[in-house]
Amino acid sequence: MRFRPELEPLRPYRPPHLAKELEADRGPAGYVKLTMNELSFGPLPGAEAAVRESLARANRYPEREAAALREAVAAANPGSSTANIIIGNGSSEVLSNLLAILERPGEIVYPWPSFSLYPAIARILGLESRPVELTAEKAVDPEALLAAVTERTRAVVLCNPNNPTGTCLPLAAVRELAASLPEEVLLVLDEAYYEFVSDPAYAGSHELALSTPNVVSARTFSKVHGLAALRVGYGIAPEPVADYFERVRFPFSVNAPAQAAATASMREGDLIRKRARFVIEERERLQSAFAAAGYDYVPSQGNFILAKIPADLFERGGVLVREGEALGFPGWSRITVGDSGENDRVIEAISAR
Ligand SMILES: *Cc1c(COP(=O)(O)O)cnc(C)c1O
Repeated sequence: MRFRPELEPLRPYRPPHLAKELEADRGPAGYVKLTMNELSFGPLPGAEAAVRESLARANRYPEREAAALREAVAAANPGSSTANIIIGNGSSEVLSNLLAILERPGEIVYPWPSFSLYPAIARILGLESRPVELTAEKAVDPEALLAAVTERTRAVVLCNPNNPTGTCLPLAAVRELAASLPEEVLLVLDEAYYEFVSDPAYAGSHELALSTPNVVSARTFSKVHGLAALRVGYGIAPEPVADYFERVRFPFSVNAPAQAAATASMREGDLIRKRARFVIEERERLQSAFAAAGYDYVPSQGNFILAKIPADLFERGGVLVREGEALGFPGWSRITVGDSGENDRVIEAISAR
């Protein structure tokens, strides 16, 4: 067999602590699982009901255009029409398809450390990668990103807020970056965590995608919507980008129960914003506890916090977090903000020294 040699270094994504995570699912006595930035609550009741209702038609292929889902997303993002809405099997697939439509040979530029999927997708799709170091404050440096762009650059992928640091580039700086980029370079804003942004300097980011020919916002139902298992992501894109995107999308990549749940959840904007506010308050509570205990952390705009606390300290307290080593920050941990009880366990774990 003649495999593509450039795929050799790739390894399947394996979440850490697999055995203990299974134990975590057994309930309150086991470990608390705060490793993957999931929501600690299930889907909204309306989303769950929509899944159940859709199962009776599981013999049929899902609706090809996902019209209801696109309409719900467009309605939640004023100024957009369904022609601007792209969808995928998780935002992972949205990101992958966005990079699949760009000319080869070429490379992508992205801040680093960031989401590990970017270099992996680039390699799979035959694009080169150019990571750009974060600043000393673990924030994105837009000037360094711009300076890294060459005539081979096809896209800049900006995770905002950035996973795993939780730092967020203000919208004005993103606008400036978009305005400075050559128009043939696509700016992909990975906004998986944008619902958790409390900084008013990041409101209405989708308008940038609607008003700029080379900007796309990619979002997900896996985080604040609590639908990670169903695999639905979407994006807001200028029409020509959305048109090309649709050419590479697998016809039925978003299954029918997922479409139904995501549509129902998107229509419940008030309930989703309420959940986001809860997470934001709990994030503040955890950050205050880290500060009070004398630990360094990066103030976060996501549903997770990067703190200079070793993962085994949490583990001894029965809390599983993501070890910073794998994320590019040895000695640090990324702690997902959980529900009240889980966050209490986090605070107990750092206090029991
Ligand atoms: C969690 C996450 C996603 C979401 O991926 P899905 O495929 O939608 O589950 C996307 N980007 C980043 C940076 C993430 O952390």
